[in-house]
Formats: sequence, C-alpha cells, structure tokens
Amino acid sequence: MDDTEWMAKGNCRFEPPATFFPSDGVGVEIAKRICETCPVKAQCLEHALVNRIDHGVWGGTSERQRRRILKSRRVSVGAGR
Ligand code: SF4
Repeated sequence: MDDTEWMAKGNCRFEPPATFFPSDGVGVEIAKRICETCPVKAQCLEHALVNRIDHGVWGGTSERQRRRILKSRRVSVGAGR
C-alpha cells in the first residue's frame, strides 16, 4: 500500500497545483525552490520514483532529474548481480 499521508504536510499545500507542473525551466526552478525546505521532500521524491510519475516537479526534482535517478538505480541494481 502506498502511504500518502505525507502529502498533507508538503509545502505545496499552500500553492496552486499548476506551480508544480511548469511549462518552462523558470517554472521548474520556482517549484524546486518551494520543495527545498519541504519536510516531506524525501517521501515525495520516492513516491514519484516508485510510481514512475513522469510529469511535474516532485521532491525537488525535475522530470529529467528523476529519469536520471531511475537510470542510475537500474545500473546499480544490474551491477550488483
Ligand atoms: S517536495 Fe515539493 S512537491 Fe513534494 S510535497 Fe514537498 S513541496 Fe510538494
């Protein structure tokens, strides 16, 4: 089961949801700045990674950064075999 209680504690609860689905790089930086001090940043990032959420800023990471993290996890899992 995916525990999503942490969502109620995120800094983004005070922001319009669209802030976290920016259409350009400036918007991504604005969203990431809000995430910076978020008390549930780690849970948020993990939620996005585990659920393969492609769009938006989650846990202070852009879509591209999460793709990179997922790729590096696949590499390290493969290396452990
Ligand atoms: S890390 Fe960012 S997107 Fe995630 S809950 Fe916190 S403020 Fe919201």
